Amino acid sequence: MADDAFAEQVRLRAAFLKEQGLDYGLARKVRAAGAGEAQKPGRPKASIRRPTIVPGSPHAHPEGATAPPGPWPEEPGQALDAIRSWIGDCRRCKLCEKRTHIVFGVGDPRARVMFIGEGPGADEDAQGEPFVGRAGKLLTDIITKGMGLSRSQVYIANVVKCRPPDNRDPEPDEVQACLPFLEAQIDAIRPEVIVGLGRVAIQALLKSPVQITKFRGTWTDYRGAAMMPTYHPSYLLRNPGAKGQVWKDIQEVMAKLGLSGPARK
Ligand code: SF4
Repeated sequence: MADDAFAEQVRLRAAFLKEQGLDYGLARKVRAAGAGEAQKPGRPKASIRRPTIVPGSPHAHPEGATAPPGPWPEEPGQALDAIRSWIGDCRRCKLCEKRTHIVFGVGDPRARVMFIGEGPGADEDAQGEPFVGRAGKLLTDIITKGMGLSRSQVYIANVVKCRPPDNRDPEPDEVQACLPFLEAQIDAIRPEVIVGLGRVAIQALLKSPVQITKFRGTWTDYRGAAMMPTYHPSYLLRNPGAKGQVWKDIQEVMAKLGLSGPARK
């Protein structure tokens, strides 16, 4: 990265942290803790497990209507296109009834890090893109000003792809119907790190009633990726005091990915 661009990135991150009322020095502490496992930026070839999805395999869902028609193309972009075609004009659950758009996901098909929320809100339903409302702006700030990445360098998706009415939590049958699509996306992208955003997403992914307040900040494995659970940006809008915990989790993610941070300057 050119010096000017790096300096601008540092300036933006410092301004972002100050705006959020966060500790600029935290980056140094977490980087030091994660230095032993930091990796150089770039997409490793050998360390990523790529499950082969075939109907009836442990990665496939036996519910029939949602069983993947894979195997998918090896190239991630082509695989995502095939998965989107598989979804089609989906009517597999009742969330189809009031949706405007199916919100598939957005970003780099070869992203090293994937952010996963619970489902689209009103803005996302209207625009067909995940995390574009107020909570989305905060997530974008975390990605751009906090991590020094762009939205186009990561991949963003949700557990369910159609908006639950009145922004209620997705119901178990809706999660069960839609989760195979997300699982196929993860297997196509093969991210090194997944950031699970909020209680609903984490519980859906792990199929366990974990408490996000206790579980956040703890690495766990999910489909071959290291997953970091943290709070949902909408929770941060209601509880700004939790921003420090999320920033700590994001710093762990940056250390895991070997991303450069302010302390490197
Ligand atoms: S939420 Fe998922 S399963 Fe339900 S209709 Fe939308 S795309 Fe289909």
